[in-house]
Order: sequence, then C-alpha cells, then structure tokens
Amino acid sequence: MDRVGICAICGSVSYLNTCSLCGRLVCNGCFDHSRNVCKQCSSGIIFSEMSSERSGII
Ligand SMILES: [Zn+2]
Ligand SMILES: [Zn+2]
Repeated sequence: MDRVGICAICGSVSYLNTCSLCGRLVCNGCFDHSRNVCKQCSSGIIFSEMSSERSGII
C-alpha cells in the first residue's frame, strides 16, 4: 500500500499517505495518523472545533 512520491506540502520525496479530507499525498512528517488527514487539514479541523465551541457561547 506504500507509495513513494513527492509530498504535496513539504515537497520531499518520501512514502506518502493520502489525506482523507483533501486527498493530497503527503509524507509521514506532514501527515496526522491519528486523524488520517494531512497536517494542513488537521490544523483546520482543530480550528473549526474551537470556533464551533466558541460560537456555542452566547
Ligand atoms: Zn511532507
Ligand atoms: Zn488534507
């Protein structure tokens, strides 16, 4: 299942993982294995979780 190619985030040649959100191929260093998404989408998820919690407070 392992594929070697160019990471879509850092550009290094490495084993790639497919982000379940954006579908980009990223290296292990740019991949969040606990969420199965790339680091960019992972930070976006954290951001939206925080903002939705904040919006619940009126
Ligand atoms: Zn990378
Ligand atoms: Zn992604």
